[in-house]
Amino acid sequence: MEYAEHIVDLVGNTPLVKLNSLAEGLAPTVLAKVEYFNPGGSVKDRIALRMVEAAERSGELRPGGTIVEPTSGNTGVGLALVAQRKGYKCVFVCPDKVSEDKRNVLKAYGAEVVVCPTAVAPEHPDSYYNVSDRLVREIPGAWKPNQYANPENPESHYHSTGPELWRQTEGRITHFVAGIGTGGTISGTGRYLKEISGGKVKIIGADPEGSVYSGGTGRPYLVEGVGEDFWPTTYDREICDEIVAISDGDSFDVTRRLAREEGLLVGGSCGMAAAAALRVAAGLGPEAVVVVLLPDGGRGYLSKVFNDSWMSSYGFLPPDQNSHTVGDVLRRKDGTLP
Ligand code: PMP
Repeated sequence: MEYAEHIVDLVGNTPLVKLNSLAEGLAPTVLAKVEYFNPGGSVKDRIALRMVEAAERSGELRPGGTIVEPTSGNTGVGLALVAQRKGYKCVFVCPDKVSEDKRNVLKAYGAEVVVCPTAVAPEHPDSYYNVSDRLVREIPGAWKPNQYANPENPESHYHSTGPELWRQTEGRITHFVAGIGTGGTISGTGRYLKEISGGKVKIIGADPEGSVYSGGTGRPYLVEGVGEDFWPTTYDREICDEIVAISDGDSFDVTRRLAREEGLLVGGSCGMAAAAALRVAAGLGPEAVVVVLLPDGGRGYLSKVFNDSWMSSYGFLPPDQNSHTVGDVLRRKDGTLP
């Protein structure tokens, strides 16, 4: 019989798929690494497993312990999966800009969720970083993976994402593009690809306009899971050959096109990374193989990026582009939408 011993054993080995419609007219091959195929639905399953196992080995996490982490959702799901397998409790701290859908997913896996305001400085006592520190001090047996400082975060990508991409492209990858949140994905994958190719593979970071990685101050932007207002130690400042800043509007436009034209229902940070990849590919020849990593699926964003009223309310779409009454449709004799 062919089966996995446990759902956690299915983390990693995600597929690569070619972007056809979006890359039309561009010379390079543009491939997407689709991380929603991970069992928790995102790239973060990879780091969760490695961080927990390292903490068990070092004795920081003991039987019956509680995992406490500030997370925008995806890392929480990964940690919740691993925690279930190993018998730990989970408490997650989220900023309030994270969609309610995403928070409910964490609760569904059995985790507790604490919500904090987005519009406060990181040093404010109510910031999600400080609230999680307080919980770690007060809950007995608590351990904070701290994905923003844990070297096992980039290390997990050095040992899984990087080797997978090299193997899947048979060493033909020339450019790797990924968004930067903690920087774990780009730093670990980038370091592996640079080492194995003797420095030939170019590493391109995608960043929301306003975030520190592309020279901003951390001004609020709407795309979730990427960009920062501080420099995490998990981000290796030496790794990127180039950083491309992408506006919210462009990120969401490409996110919606990925669903409509490529059948890839993915999150807003995927559209941001893909927008950067297309920009990079536009300047390259037919021998280039550009790989963009798409961190998660789009179901957690149905009330935002994929909601026309939400998009219109921020000026990303003209009002009511896709909502029509039966009357509107029937009034058109040729059957097309008004
Ligand atoms: N996209 C989403 C949706 C994420 O949750 C994250 C992680 N914060 C990223 C992209 C960025 O990945 P990393 O933290 O490895 O830089």
